[in-house]
Amino acid sequence: MCGIIGVRGRTDAAEIAHWGLYALQHRGQESAGIVGVDDTGHARSVRALGLVSDGIDREQLAPLTGSVAIGHTRYSTAGATTLENVQPLLVQFRGGHIGLGHNGNITNASELRVALEDRGSIFSSTNDTEVLVHRLAMSTATQPEEQLADALRGVEGAYCLVVVIGRTLLAARDPHGWRPLVMGRFPSNNGHGAAGGIVFASETCALDMVGARYEREVAPGEIIAVDDTGIRSSFPLPAAPLHRCVFEHVYFSRPDSIVFGTSVEAARRALGQRLARECPTPGAELVFSVPDSSNSAALGYAEESGLPFEFALIRNHYVGRTFIQPTQAGRDAKVKVKYNAVRDLLEGKKVVMVDDSIVRGTTTRGLVTMVRHAGAREVHMRVSSAPITGPCYYGIDTPNRSELIAAQLSVDEIAADLGVDSLGYLSLDGMLAAVPSGPGGFCDACFSGRYPTPAPVDSAKLRFGCGN
Ligand code: 5GP
Ligand code: SF4
Ligand code: MG
Repeated sequence: MCGIIGVRGRTDAAEIAHWGLYALQHRGQESAGIVGVDDTGHARSVRALGLVSDGIDREQLAPLTGSVAIGHTRYSTAGATTLENVQPLLVQFRGGHIGLGHNGNITNASELRVALEDRGSIFSSTNDTEVLVHRLAMSTATQPEEQLADALRGVEGAYCLVVVIGRTLLAARDPHGWRPLVMGRFPSNNGHGAAGGIVFASETCALDMVGARYEREVAPGEIIAVDDTGIRSSFPLPAAPLHRCVFEHVYFSRPDSIVFGTSVEAARRALGQRLARECPTPGAELVFSVPDSSNSAALGYAEESGLPFEFALIRNHYVGRTFIQPTQAGRDAKVKVKYNAVRDLLEGKKVVMVDDSIVRGTTTRGLVTMVRHAGAREVHMRVSSAPITGPCYYGIDTPNRSELIAAQLSVDEIAADLGVDSLGYLSLDGMLAAVPSGPGGFCDACFSGRYPTPAPVDSAKLRFGCGN
C-alpha cells in the first residue's frame, strides 16, 4: 500500500506535495519521494528511506522548483526496502523524462516483465511498478495521456497513478477502482499569485492538509491530463466491474478522509454499530478500542450497545506499525512498546475490546495478555470486519495464508488461541451492508475468497514493491 499525490499549477508544487505526503504517511512509512518539474521542463527528485519527516527536509526540496510535482509514500514487505525501490520513479527516455508514483499491485507484473526482458529491457528495481515506465517509454503516441493509455492496456490488477511526462501531470485509476484517488482544486485566490491549481491524492485528508477543495474522485478507468491548456479526461481502457477495496474503509484510510465518495468515519462507526447488533456482549461494563485504527468502530459499538466508551489502551505514538517488524520476536516485543493498559479502568471489569481486524493474531494475543494483567475480569473481543482468510493481491500487504490466523483456525479456536472469553467477528454480509456506499461494487476477496482475478502466477515474486 502506498500514498500518492500530484500537484500542478502552483509555483511551490514540490513543497505542497511534501506537505501532502505528511497526511498520507499512514499509507506507507518505508520510504518517501518527490519529483518536481521546473518551468523549463527539467525534472529532479528527492528520495529517502523512512518517514517523510526523517527523510526529506526543506533544504533537499529547495532545488525542486516549478509548478509540477508528484510524491509518494511507500509501504512494502520487509526486505525490499532499498533506495532503488523508492518512488516516484524518475527515468529519462527519448521523449524526455517520466516520473511515476503507484499505489496498488499489478497482478500480471511478472509476465509483463518477462516479455519486456525478452525484448531487451533492463530493470533497475525489483518492484512491479517499473514495468509501467518501460511500457510508457515504448509508446509511439504523441499525447501523454495516449502514451499512458498504451502503457496500461493489458496491465491487470490495482493501480492508482500520478505521472509526469514533460510538464504534463497525469492521474489514472484502474477500471476496477480498487484503490482510492481524488482530485482537488486550489482556490484561485490563494494569495500565492497563482491562478488556482490541481491536486490529485490518495485521500482527501491530503487535500485538507494543503488547502485544496475536494472536487471529485478520479473515476475507475479514467485518465486525467493537466497541462498549460487545461484539464482533459478520457476513458481509454475497457470497462470492468467495480472492485473497491472494502479494507480501505475497515482499516487503511484515515477517518477524516472521504474515500470512494463516503466518509471513512461514518463507515467505521456503522461497522461498529452493526457489530454491536450482530455480536452483543450482555453484562459488559465498558467498551474500548485498540487505538487508533478501531477508535471509530469501538465508538459505534459503544453507542449502539449503550455502554461507556473508555480509553483503556494507550498507544505510544513514537513507534511505527507492528507489521513492519520482519521477525515474530520483534513483533511480540513491539506490542508492549506500542501499547499499555489502564489498570484503573479495567480492574475487576467485564470488558469489550474492539479491533478493526485480526491478521496474524500477534498484536491481539499480546493485548489480551496485557488487559488481563491489568485486572480485567472477562475480556470479550469484537472485530469490525469478517475473518481474513486469504492474502490480498491488490496492494495491501496481508501475509500469506499460512500466517493468517483465520485461514488456519475456526473462530472458537482463535478465541482459545488469543485467550479471550468470547470472540465475535462481523459477518461478511454485515460488513458489506454497513459501508454506506455498499454493498455492491466492493472487493472482499481476502474475506470471502472471491478473487476477481486469477491469483498472480508468482505471487512471492510480486510481493516486492509498491505495488506492495
Ligand atoms: P494482529 O492481531 O493480526 O497481529 O494485528 C491486528 C492489528 O493490525 C489490528 O489492530 C489492525 O488494525 C492492524 N492491521 C490490520 N491490517 C493491517 C495491515 O495491513 N498493516 C498493518 N500495519 N496493520 C494492520
Ligand atoms: Fe481489499 Fe481484501 Fe480485496 Fe485486497 S483482497 S483489495 S485487502 S478487500
Ligand atoms: Mg489497529
